[in-house]
This record gives sequence, structure tokens and C-alpha cells, in this order.
Amino acid sequence: MFVDEAKIYIKAGDGGDGCVSFHREKYIAAGGPDGGDGGKGGDIVFKVDDNISNLIDFRYKKKYTAEKGQNGSSKNCTGRNAPDLVIKVPRGTVVREAATGRILADMSCDEPVVIARGGKGGRGNAHFATPTRQIPKFAKPGFRGDEYEVVLELKLIADVGLVGFPNVGKSTLISVVSAARPKIANYHFTTLTPVLGVVKIEEGKSFVMADIPGLIEGASEGIGLGHEFLRHVERCRLIVHVVDVSGIEGRDPIEDFNAINRELANFSEEFAEAPQIVAANKSDMAEPEQIKSFREYVEKTGLPFYEISAATTAGTKELVYGVWERLQQLPPVKQFEAQPLTQEELDDKLLSKKDFKVTTEDGIYFVEADWLWDVLRSVNMDDYSSLQYFQRVLRASGIIDRLLEMGIREGDTVSIFDFEFEFVN
Ligand code: GDP
Ligand code: MG
Repeated sequence: MFVDEAKIYIKAGDGGDGCVSFHREKYIAAGGPDGGDGGKGGDIVFKVDDNISNLIDFRYKKKYTAEKGQNGSSKNCTGRNAPDLVIKVPRGTVVREAATGRILADMSCDEPVVIARGGKGGRGNAHFATPTRQIPKFAKPGFRGDEYEVVLELKLIADVGLVGFPNVGKSTLISVVSAARPKIANYHFTTLTPVLGVVKIEEGKSFVMADIPGLIEGASEGIGLGHEFLRHVERCRLIVHVVDVSGIEGRDPIEDFNAINRELANFSEEFAEAPQIVAANKSDMAEPEQIKSFREYVEKTGLPFYEISAATTAGTKELVYGVWERLQQLPPVKQFEAQPLTQEELDDKLLSKKDFKVTTEDGIYFVEADWLWDVLRSVNMDDYSSLQYFQRVLRASGIIDRLLEMGIREGDTVSIFDFEFEFVN
């Protein structure tokens, strides 16, 4: 089974908790606080593995959780950072956030990509000691790791995609021009999984061709097979449109040619504009007039036309050279850009879940809210406008009001995550 879509849940590790502890040694009375910080939680990292060809593993395992950071301990010992959890995916996998559909990463590169960040470790009590607060009896829990539901979508990486009705000879063509050996048979839909083949022209000159399962009319509306495979053509630099010119199955090549182009255009505007070469196949079985009239029709549309027979290999060499020449003029394989949240979207996200908790210990006001973590990460505390933004968020979310209700006064300390500041109203 070829699986090219999957939805999984990923959760980066939470940070380890900070420790409450006091220095103890023989003959030394009442030592100072020495509770260490927690370690960082593990990241969730995606990495390409070329030994994996589809997403079937993700049908079986759908939850991925990285380890929590180790808790801090006494003697100022910081907890160990948890290891990253590496998820291996086939090359060409596009990772999207399920909730928004935005692209988090296009895994077509070799570099690993961090998709969910592990939480920072909480601070041990040693951090909270000040001249006026010498015995802090509290420490902070670790921060939460990011969590997402993500959709994985495999979009194969090929220079050229073979497109056409079932049974026109696409699989036969790829098998004669490359080492790929897809199933070939005289019935429709023998190709149920896309197959990649490397076409070698000569030393140092090659390109990747994809045999995409046959399109049928209505494919772009999701009728039957086809639509789900069109995504594999999305990255292709060039479409080789294979048409059965012999009309052996009672079909008309011109009608077929137009029908497939309509399907492509219905799927996306980009497809309609995509560079295309037409390969009129099964010419060994076609009448010369059939070929001639189809050729004339295609040439009027301005597309390059090649007469071939995949079965006898006649004309396939010329086609392959033609493809190579055309590729030289085309941009490289399409990559999808990651789409970070805009400031507006971040704000929306904040306002949709602005619950928080304020506690007070030893005259410090602790504000706890997971969503604030995203804000703090984006705020530069040395920058005035950035700080003002932070203040606005605190006010809009009702945190300032709550602090005032609890009796906070100018100059009191507010602690949010590992950031402390003096309250000014
Ligand atoms: P696909 O569905 O487009 O991949 O088509 P296949 O490659 O599986 O071919 C379908 C049938 O057409 C098979 O029986 C092939 O042997 C036959 N075929 C493919 N190319 C040619 C050709 O150039 N000439 C002839 N006569 N038959 C062909
Ligand atoms: Mg096939």
C-alpha cells in the first residue's frame, strides 16, 4: 500500500522541574539555597531518510512524545537535557499544522528541522535568592514543550511527471528510459503507486522521472483515482503528457489530450501554466494520418510534439533529449516555504485562550500561562516598543487587573517564566 498522507500528534518534552534544596554540610549551619534548574525537554526533529518511500509507518504509530528534561537537584545540579526525538520521513514530505494548514517545513533537504521545541527547565530555588529573600522555599516547574497535530503530505520530488489516461503506456515508457520497473499490463490502473526513475542521458546528465498513476476524467473533482496522485506532479518542473495516438481502445487522441489538460487546469492554475511536452505513444500501431492530424493539432497549441513507441523504443531517445534540453531552461524543483504565524495570527491565538494563573509566594507574583511563552519568545526586553507590546498583552488578557486585585504595589516583583520585572502601573 502506498500511503502519501498521514496525520500525527507530536509533543516535545516538557522542561524538568527546578529543585528546592539548601546547602548542608557538617559543622556548617543553615546553608544557602542550592536547588538546581531542570533540564530542557527534547525537541521533535524531522529528518529525511531516503530508505523510506512512503508514509505508511504513520498509519500505525500516530503519537510521538519526546522525553521530559531531568529535574534539577541539590548542590546546584542542573538536570540533564532530554534527547531529541527524531522522526524520519521520506524525501519530499511537507509538514503542516493541522489546525491552520500552514506549512511548518518542506522536508526535501538533508538538514534536520525542529518542528516542536522542548520546554525549558524550571528554575531551582538558588535562582530566587536575593539579599532580602535568603531562604526561597520554592522552585518553578519546567515549561511545556510545544505540541501540534500535524499533517504529513508526501509530494515526490521529480523533474518530470508522466501524465495521461490509464493504459496509454506511461509505465512502459519509464521502464525503457530508466531502470525503474513498474508493473505493466493491459488493463487500467496497473500503476497504483507513483514510481520514480532516473533517466541517464550520458555521464553527468540525468533527470528524475515520475510515473504517476493514470488520470481519469473528473480526477480533479476527486472522482476515482487520480486526484490524490496529482499532488505528486505539483513539484515537477515539466509535464510529459502521454497520449495513445493509435486510438486502439476506441478513444480519440485529441479528446484525450484536451480532457487531461482540463483536469490539470481544474486542479490548479499553476498546472494549467506548467511547461508541457506531448508524447504521442503507440505510434507503431497508429495510422500515419492519425499521427499527422494529432501532430498538427498539438503543434497549433505551441507545445513540442514527439512521436514515440514505448514498446519498440522508437523515438524515445529523441524524447528524452528533448526533455533534457527543456529542463535546462526551467527553474529547479519547487520547494514549499515554511509559513510562520504573522503578528496578527499570534495575537488571535493569544486571545482565543488567555487563561492564566497568578500565585504569590514570598512577595513575588508568579504569572503562569502557557500561551505567554509564545509572546515572551518574540519579545525583546531591551527594546522599548517590544516591551510596550508585552505590556499591552498583559493588560488585554486581564493579567494586570488580576495582579491589582491581589494587591500588587508599584515596585513588587512579577515573575513570568524565567523573566522577572518590577511592577509599574
Ligand atoms: P499505463 O497505464 O499508462 O502505465 O500503460 P502501460 O505502460 O501499463 O501500458 C498499457 C498497455 O499498452 C500494455 O499492454 C503495454 O504493453 C501497451 N503499450 C505500451 N506502450 C506501447 C506502445 O508503444 N505500442 C504498443 N503497441 N503497445 C504499447
Ligand atoms: Mg502504469
